[in-house]
Amino acid sequence: MLDFNAIRAQFPALAQQINHQPLIYLDSAATTQKPQVVIDAITHYYSAQNANVHRGSHSLTAHATSQFEVARDNVAEFIGAPSSKSIIWTRGATEALNLIAQTYARNTLQPGDEILISEMEHHANIVPWQIVAEQTGATIVKIPMTESCEFDLETFQSLLSEKSKIVAVAHITNVTGTRPPIEAIIKSAHQFGAVVVVDGAQGIVHEKVNMAELDADFYVFSGHKLYAPAGIGVLYGKRELLEAMPPWHGGGKMVEKVTFSATTYSALPGKFEAGTPNVAGAIALSTAIDWYQGFDRSAIEKHIHTLQQKTYTALNTIDGIQVLGYQSNASVLSIVMDGVHHQDLATLLDQQGIAVRAGHHCAHPLMEALGVKGTVRISFGIYNTEQDVEYLIAAIEKAVDML
Ligand code: PMP
Repeated sequence: MLDFNAIRAQFPALAQQINHQPLIYLDSAATTQKPQVVIDAITHYYSAQNANVHRGSHSLTAHATSQFEVARDNVAEFIGAPSSKSIIWTRGATEALNLIAQTYARNTLQPGDEILISEMEHHANIVPWQIVAEQTGATIVKIPMTESCEFDLETFQSLLSEKSKIVAVAHITNVTGTRPPIEAIIKSAHQFGAVVVVDGAQGIVHEKVNMAELDADFYVFSGHKLYAPAGIGVLYGKRELLEAMPPWHGGGKMVEKVTFSATTYSALPGKFEAGTPNVAGAIALSTAIDWYQGFDRSAIEKHIHTLQQKTYTALNTIDGIQVLGYQSNASVLSIVMDGVHHQDLATLLDQQGIAVRAGHHCAHPLMEALGVKGTVRISFGIYNTEQDVEYLIAAIEKAVDML
């Protein structure tokens, strides 16, 4: 049995008061709070290890380089990647998706080719594809969702054709917590030779992944949703695809030899890592992964699903509150209140110390499909407890009375 109160105590930010109330943090889908061990890793790096990597010959740089590369190996192992050469450090999921769009896609797409994107995607998995479609003459094809906000596999399969070149889909979506059948999506897409890009920003936290088994062509995620700092993320790509892709950003470290007549590029993964990387971020992400893997991951998910289910059941008893696109066994709930702006509800919750996210959640197409301007999203992390749910429900009841 995991002691979730003890786990919560590892997060110093959760000990504070907000608006004279104990902080109840229910916005982990936006970003997670950081455990002390991750904060310590960053402090230790800058206190004792700081140096630039892959440059120079002094002891500090050798040590920093070795820690940086050990972190890469750890990420590769964490996601079951066959080689750490397939792990590219980025600033986050957004940068990784833009990298794929501007290297792989920009160099392979022809006019008339199709990029299939689900309508439930975050803007980070829509806009980079729109930009590259404009640059290449490719077309964006929307994969609709079902009425219950699930991925419509049958319709997706009917949309596939020889023209399908890229399929971009979330592992788990950020507004409703929908988990598309990515295994079946990948199989079907591959039958038509399409490359599948999985946006793992939410999924990496809530499911174990194995790239060798999943067979995704690309998988991306951000450290900050995985209890690690912001500014570090990961692009995994199949090695043969990454090898064939031209570089994106030019600069130091991504080159082998530079002359004014011709420049040759570094081997993987350096080819895609121009400039000084976020060394502390990579090391802290590796620390977060070790820390997270120290827990029984299925017990964490069971706990989160129980909290989500309890919240859902309680919300259903409150007049005027509606849960949109409810998915069982998810870590998020999106709600709207009859006749009340989502921002007003979130503000009233904030006044009671409760942090939730209000807005469109960077998913305008999904908001349009749901027929709303925005929602209040409640999202759970490893540190939430049943008491948080009780506080939340009491606070929503109070807000309903006031509004
Ligand atoms: N995709 C999804 C599903 C997300 O939830 C997010 C973060 N809200 C992103 C992509 C973008 O992640 P980041 O802002 O860390 O690059």
